[in-house]
Amino acid sequence: MPELPEVETFKRYLDKTSLKQLITEVKVTDDRILNTEEINLSQLLNGKRFESSTRHGKYLLIYLKPGYLVLHFGMSGDLEYYDTKEEPPKFSKVIFHFTNGFNLAYISIRMFGKVSVANSIEEFIEYKKLGPDAYKMTLEEFQEAVQRRSAIAKNALLNQSFIAGVGNIYSDEILFRTKINPKTNINSLSEGKVKELYTNIKEVLEFGIKKKGDLSTYPNEFLIPHRKKEEQCPICNSDITRFEISGRHGFFCPSCQSN
Ligand SMILES: [Zn+2]
Repeated sequence: MPELPEVETFKRYLDKTSLKQLITEVKVTDDRILNTEEINLSQLLNGKRFESSTRHGKYLLIYLKPGYLVLHFGMSGDLEYYDTKEEPPKFSKVIFHFTNGFNLAYISIRMFGKVSVANSIEEFIEYKKLGPDAYKMTLEEFQEAVQRRSAIAKNALLNQSFIAGVGNIYSDEILFRTKINPKTNINSLSEGKVKELYTNIKEVLEFGIKKKGDLSTYPNEFLIPHRKKEEQCPICNSDITRFEISGRHGFFCPSCQSN
């Protein structure tokens, strides 16, 4: 599932390929993907350009002067820029046609992705009750978020109104690196541990962005290559354990992450 590093990768791809291109038409091939009326989308986009883009958590907000197109990538979303002479990519749900003969396809295999519109970034963040962006937040913003919340660490990191952008895989990595048990209450962490957690959130996401969200080539010392049954902890050799919290499965080292 696309988490913050993947969405940041989509943002950079969109910036590189599609910014400033004049949009001639928007084709919606499956309107179940829309979280707005199709007419709002064409009014927002036709004859305009993607002026700039901003990522907040797992959302990509694209400015159209005025108004924003909002893309969420759900479980399996993707973007592809391609020549009109080619066939549209499989599972394209919305296609943006540009005057230069190229198109940008918003792709989603499943129906969970959502395409919507917003008047402003601030209004959208408030409407969705999103916390500060996990990659851009300051230490003070993070400390404040921790103080306001009583929740187990795993759930806190997954809660998009606590901090926005972290999902199941990176939350396990962040807790592993900080040596925090996923069931520890976030409120009970020492000031030093909160700082360490903040640093590790940034570092894990930074590394994920560098890897463009590709999980297949992570070094051995990360938890990511060991998120499966019968794996050993790369630090202490204990068995990696699968756990379930609120219907979500995760992995941790019971010895390194004992409290
Ligand atoms: Zn261990």
